[in-house]
This record gives sequence, C-alpha cells and structure tokens, in this order.
Amino acid sequence: MEVISSRKDVVELCARARHDGLSIGFVPTMGALHEGHARLMRTARQECGFVVLSIFVNPLQFGAGEDLSAYPRSMELDSSLAESLGCDLLFAPDEEEMYGRGRPEVTVDPGSLGERLEGASRPGHFRGVLTVVAKLLNMVGPCHAYFGEKDAQQLALVRRMVGSLDIPAEIVPVATAREADGLAISSRNAYLSPDERLAAPVLFDAVSLAAELARGGQRDADVIRAEMARTIGGEPLARLDYVAVVDEDTWEDVRTIQGPARALVSARIGSARLIDNLLLPGRPAGAVHNSRDV
Ligand code: AMP
Repeated sequence: MEVISSRKDVVELCARARHDGLSIGFVPTMGALHEGHARLMRTARQECGFVVLSIFVNPLQFGAGEDLSAYPRSMELDSSLAESLGCDLLFAPDEEEMYGRGRPEVTVDPGSLGERLEGASRPGHFRGVLTVVAKLLNMVGPCHAYFGEKDAQQLALVRRMVGSLDIPAEIVPVATAREADGLAISSRNAYLSPDERLAAPVLFDAVSLAAELARGGQRDADVIRAEMARTIGGEPLARLDYVAVVDEDTWEDVRTIQGPARALVSARIGSARLIDNLLLPGRPAGAVHNSRDV
C-alpha cells in the first residue's frame, strides 16, 4: 500500500490505475478506523481493482464547540488496518494541502435537506461534508465510492450532490456495522464512560422498536415517533435530540407510511452525540388494507 499526502499524487496514481484497466473503489473517512470503516474497505476490495482510502479530519464540517481538536486520531493503527485489508493507496493530506491557507470561499450547497435533522443540530455540517467529498471525488476521478448507511442523511446528500453536479462516481451504500448489543460502531463511542456505554444501545432499541412496529403493520408515523421518543426517554443517561420517520426518497416527514421509510434518532449520551437509523420494513405479506391506512 502506498501512503501519500499530496493531491497531485492521488490524481496521478488514480489515473494510472484506470489506464491499467482497474476500476477504482474509494472509501473516504476521517480515520480512527473501526469495523464500520473496515466493512467499507472490504466491500470496495471485493468489487474493485484498485482501492483508495482517504483519511482527513475535515475542519469544515465541525461547528464551533464541536469536537474537532479532540477527534480521535490514530494514523499508524489506521495505516496497518488499511494495509491488512488490501487497500492500494492511502491518501492522508493535511489541512493546508486540502484547503490552502484559510477556508474555501466556494462551497457545495446541500439544499434544504442539509438544514434538517443532523443539519438542524449541526449548522453548516453538510456544507462542509459535501465540499470535502466533492473535492475528493474530483481528485480520485471516476470510481465507486463507498458510504455507510449509519450516516444515512450524509449518504442521501452525497447521492443528491453526485446527481445534481454530474460527478462521475457511483455511490455504494454499506450496511451499518454494530456491536453485539446493537450499538452502531462509531469513532465517537470512545467518548463514552462505562455507564454511558451500557446506556448507548438505547438508540438502536428505539429504531428497532420502530422497525418492529412497522413490521407489525403500524402505519401511523406519529405513533412510531412517539414510541421512539419514549424509548430514549426511558434511559436516564440519554438526552433526546430528535426522532424522525422520513420518506426514503424525498426525506420529507411521513404521516402515514405507504412506501419505503426510514426511522432516525439522535441523542446525547454524556459528551457524545450519537445517531442511528433503520429502513422500516414494508407491509407484512398478506396484510389486509384497512381504512386507517389511507
Ligand atoms: P467517518 O470516518 O466517521 O467520517 O466515516 C467514514 C465512512 O464510514 C462514512 O461513510 C460512514 O458512514 C462510514 N461508517 C462509519 N461508521 C460506520 C458503521 N458503524 N457502519 C458502516 N459504516 C460506517
């Protein structure tokens, strides 16, 4: 595996790989790699001839008072994990390499979805995410780019950006990697104390309950939202940020579940702000329509 930090090198090495007939699989991350990232890299390795991992803690996507300086960094461990998973290229630029001196004046506008849910709690976050992802996709060039469903809103916005701006990347979603008790694996889980760690699966409990209710035929999204909020409320160490049930395509809030919908939750546990989500199962086979469904 080659480790590089210059933009020029990524452009050149990816162009060379394409010239050699290799398809490129790209996995953008902020490092502190864990099993979730490993799943992305493994999937890219299975599907592509040349796997590129990027590690860059992007200051543009952190708000004032967020954890930019405390964000976990573990470059040496990350590099050995990437190598052991068969990555071909690790691109780890510093801030100056990415943005020069100062912040870019021209950035990617995420549109209205960028201001809801995660965007409402973290103003400017998705503008920062999309700007860095656009830059990275432009450097890597035509590729398959792998994103985790754990960050479902980010995945949706990256898809919209690639569509709106005709960026030649195929966005590939990868299922959320979880701990044995259901907690979605995240670099931010490192902030949890032992007690908080025990409380943290309550987010998964909430979205699992949403899925169970939907599987049982519950179509009223308000009932599902209320049950999710009640689940989080039952955990004394958790402070609810939001619960949502949105249409999988439009990301609008759903009143009555009629098509693919996603349940999302965010809560603070101690100093960590955690998120989780699940796609809700459709109507059970053989379920009978009744008048309350419409
Ligand atoms: P991050 O380093 O947190 O910016 O994440 C980099 C990529 O890894 C994003 O596409 C995330 O959605 C994905 N990711 C993070 N955690 C998980 C997880 N538990 N399961 C699957 N993908 C993940």
